[in-house]
Amino acid sequence: MADRKRILSGMRPTGRLHLGNLHGALENWVQLQNQYECYFFVADWHALTTDYASPEAIRDNTWDMILDWLSVGLDPKFSTIFIQSEIKEHAELYLLLGMITPLAWLERNPTYKEQQQQLNQKDLGTYGFLGYPVLQAADIIIYRANGVPVGKDQLPHVELTREIARRFNFMYKCDIFPVPDGLLTESPMLPGLDGRKMSKSYGNCIFITESEKDITEKISKMMTDPQRVRRHDPGDPEISPVFAYHKLYSSPDEIQRVAEGCRTAGIGCVECKKILIGNVLAKLAPIRERRIWLEGRIGEVKEIIAEGNARARRESVITMELVRRAIGI
Ligand code: SF4
Repeated sequence: MADRKRILSGMRPTGRLHLGNLHGALENWVQLQNQYECYFFVADWHALTTDYASPEAIRDNTWDMILDWLSVGLDPKFSTIFIQSEIKEHAELYLLLGMITPLAWLERNPTYKEQQQQLNQKDLGTYGFLGYPVLQAADIIIYRANGVPVGKDQLPHVELTREIARRFNFMYKCDIFPVPDGLLTESPMLPGLDGRKMSKSYGNCIFITESEKDITEKISKMMTDPQRVRRHDPGDPEISPVFAYHKLYSSPDEIQRVAEGCRTAGIGCVECKKILIGNVLAKLAPIRERRIWLEGRIGEVKEIIAEGNARARRESVITMELVRRAIGI
């Protein structure tokens, strides 16, 4: 794998993952394993930047998320899977990058103010929250990653990482850090049960490994085109969240049949959802089975992560030796 470019991505430990996570990031990560040397990490220190006052759930959420990652196909044979807080070198690099990062770069970060407003029940006027893009930069460049798979909204963060990497190399006259590229991935937008963005905080999620019974109930109650009040009312599939799921889970023939049937009132919402339920359950069944299998082998899962931590640590130790030498301390 030595000739492959290296990429890195992480997720905050939020516990069991939902279909938005699956289609928005994880499926892409699984594919990337075929092309790149991949590092995937649980960003548990990042979780503390917003949840520092209630950290109780972070540890359990970490293992729940790792089980989901392995269930969907992240493979430790191809990827280094690790936990951020197990690699203390991230903290050292974060501190050193903090010395050279101008405050103005952090204050102009578009998500800084946005998140402060959105999460207004939490006090995010902290040094840790302002500085989290520096921690993110340390997470990425400590592995001398060439790329970071991201959605459009995260591109400004990658840009900041690129600026910090360049500034370090320039200031200490070295070329330790490649300037990583943002690998933009177009992922399908999967709405939640109520048509809004799928998010745990909205309570509108379908979880990747939840029971068949729960998934069936949730899809049965999912929002449809509000124009279709009665069975014979025609609808517009493009404004129905159910149809967004068909596009991902159903065959081209089924998608066409549902779209036409919806527009002409040739199909009822109950029947339309029944087709979808069958397809969703069929796609998720192997993932759920693998999750149950892994839950029975938690000791082995911990060994996989211990091995991933060790591999990540080896790489970050090498980088930090170069960094200390470049700075001269
Ligand atoms: S027929 Fe299907 S796509 Fe059309 S409104 Fe009903 S559930 Fe949505």
